[in-house]
Amino acid sequence: MEELLRLTDTARYGDWTAGSGVGGSEGDAVAIRGGARHLSSVLPAISAAIGHPTPTRVHPDPKALQSALGLPDARSAIVVLVDGLGYWNLAMRLGHAPYLRALMRDAANQRPISTCAPSTTVAAMATFGTGTCPGMTGMAGYTQLEPSSGRLMQLIQFKDALAPKPAGPGGRFAVQPVDPIVDPHDLQREPTVFERLAAEGVPVTSSGLAKFKGSPLTEAALRGGTYVSGVTPRDRVRAAARAVREPGLAYLYIRDADKVGHNHGWDSEQWIGTFERIDAQLATLRREAPKGTLIVIVADHGMVMSDEHERIDIAVEPELARGVRLVGGEPRALMLYAEPDENPEDIAARWRERLGEKALVRTKREAIADGLFGPVDARVAPMLGDVIVQAAGQVTLVDSRTQSDKATRLPSVHGSQTMLEMDIPCLIDMA
Ligand SMILES: [Zn+2]
Repeated sequence: MEELLRLTDTARYGDWTAGSGVGGSEGDAVAIRGGARHLSSVLPAISAAIGHPTPTRVHPDPKALQSALGLPDARSAIVVLVDGLGYWNLAMRLGHAPYLRALMRDAANQRPISTCAPSTTVAAMATFGTGTCPGMTGMAGYTQLEPSSGRLMQLIQFKDALAPKPAGPGGRFAVQPVDPIVDPHDLQREPTVFERLAAEGVPVTSSGLAKFKGSPLTEAALRGGTYVSGVTPRDRVRAAARAVREPGLAYLYIRDADKVGHNHGWDSEQWIGTFERIDAQLATLRREAPKGTLIVIVADHGMVMSDEHERIDIAVEPELARGVRLVGGEPRALMLYAEPDENPEDIAARWRERLGEKALVRTKREAIADGLFGPVDARVAPMLGDVIVQAAGQVTLVDSRTQSDKATRLPSVHGSQTMLEMDIPCLIDMA
């Protein structure tokens, strides 16, 4: 566990396979994470497997990705994204999951691939959906700066993260539609793999919860094709299986491992129960998918348990709060925006001094030079924090001035660069 909680090398982007010498010189170096073995490769690789290779700005060679990930050619494919089901979370609970256990006996499935940094849903969904990277999608954290207004924006609903909760009938639990402060299509300008396949005449179907149809996050990261839904998880599984009776691509989203992990901890009984149900749903998918359908199961990130003794609150640490105008990101992956007259190097120095081994602190310039966000477009750079902080071990860095008490005490969290968070499954099955 100690090993899994240590910060790993930054994952890089490209078509190469580490250590194989394939795809360019970068692949020859040792211990490089990412390349073809990355979440951004999955949809381009699948597009090649179904005969419609779709290159992206990060991945010019989908065929190379298909062979690196070991995907067989198929007339149809179903790609499943299980939110929050990291490779090690899965591997440590395999006893509860007969279908996944059988899949993991295949040596080809016994190697994780890497998600993006930060290892969080909004960044990973856009990386997955476009086959690119946060530096291109402009989706780089749970919250980030919206440069034209100077506001902090939450990227699930694209709303002002610091706006007071609307009062009125129903109080804080009232369900009120929130107008996005930025058009999702304007923030996330990369074409999605779904919309490009659909434009080529390939039937593309997304199966997920009804409430995510047309949501800002869906529109930004996974737009294109036809959205189908169903009341129960099994309805949604069946809808995905049905969709590929005609040759094409279906995408199935499964939410609950993440949700239950945040609420109860990924080490809880509740999580195990959820994991068992997800395994049964995946087994149903395998049974009901038309023969010859390629099935690929991935996740957007894993999860670590937090530790209340390792919870650091910026609100009561003047040396951390000093010179910081906005705290973006999330408790495992912070993006600090400096006051106008503050030098980010000074903020970084104070944070390094205070946190030591508890976090990796980089200025924006250092993080970009390390390739943390992949290649960064000029329009995206101003959205990124002036200082980027990634928590090690079980540390969380919260801000009780702006975050709810519950949000600062989640039993399991993600966003940083440990193996538990970064390593995700890429399990391959053939119906
Ligand atoms: Zn997630």
